[in-house]
Amino acid sequence: MPDAPPRYKKILLKVSGEVLMGDQPFGIDTATLARTAEDIAEVVKTGVELSLVIGGGNIFRGVSLAGRGVERATSDYMGMLATVMNALALQGALEKAGVHTRVQSAIPMDAVCEPYIRRRAQRHLEKGRVVIFAAGVGAPFFTTDSGAALRAAEMGCEALFKGTSVDGVYTADPKKDAGAKRYDTLSYTDVLAKDLKVMDASAVSLMRDNKIPIVVFSIRERGNFLKVLRGEGVYTTIA
Ligand code: UDP
Repeated sequence: MPDAPPRYKKILLKVSGEVLMGDQPFGIDTATLARTAEDIAEVVKTGVELSLVIGGGNIFRGVSLAGRGVERATSDYMGMLATVMNALALQGALEKAGVHTRVQSAIPMDAVCEPYIRRRAQRHLEKGRVVIFAAGVGAPFFTTDSGAALRAAEMGCEALFKGTSVDGVYTADPKKDAGAKRYDTLSYTDVLAKDLKVMDASAVSLMRDNKIPIVVFSIRERGNFLKVLRGEGVYTTIA
């Protein structure tokens, strides 16, 4: 049987920072980083135009310092800097896997990467480069989920893939509740009304307004990104 073709031609993949930790409690596990890059390279080889947004939770989360004497906005800026570190790490691993990449940061950092320029990012994608969007939306009180939703809409992506450590959206936390059931499909309104912790509400509502489906899947299994893109395997679609 020939492999099914990818279901979309232009997508954005959001990878949570936690994925890069592997089994470590903190930071970047280099084996996991390399494996994730190979999975992404496999998808790029199919000719799909791919944008990436990477979180920072493996290094720093704004809320962790907020309320402990550090202003929320200040600690959120620190969180955004963490996403830039992850973006650079992922860029290095992707280039090693033979993928051409550019990092664009929502907070300009001339000596480190390009600033975010929408039309320039589009051009990179047309040339087959992967664009890694760093620093979320560039503003505190947001998360990289919102950054992912915003860039997916701006780039005109057909779907937003959310690669996490769980293989979809469940009725309850499957790590805590053995009876939790996975949804195959959900509506945006279900996610918001049931307050399911998939992505923040602002990200979900932006995807709803722009009619961009969200595909939640596990990026921890080798080869799973391409499988899910072909419509195989286990995942939840929010549409
Ligand atoms: N952050 C922010 N604005 C953004 C994106 C991120 O303030 O647009 C900060 C926020 O403090 C957040 C941290 O960066 O906690 C890391 O991002 P996130 O928690 O989304 O990472 P993930 O959970 O995906 O690893």
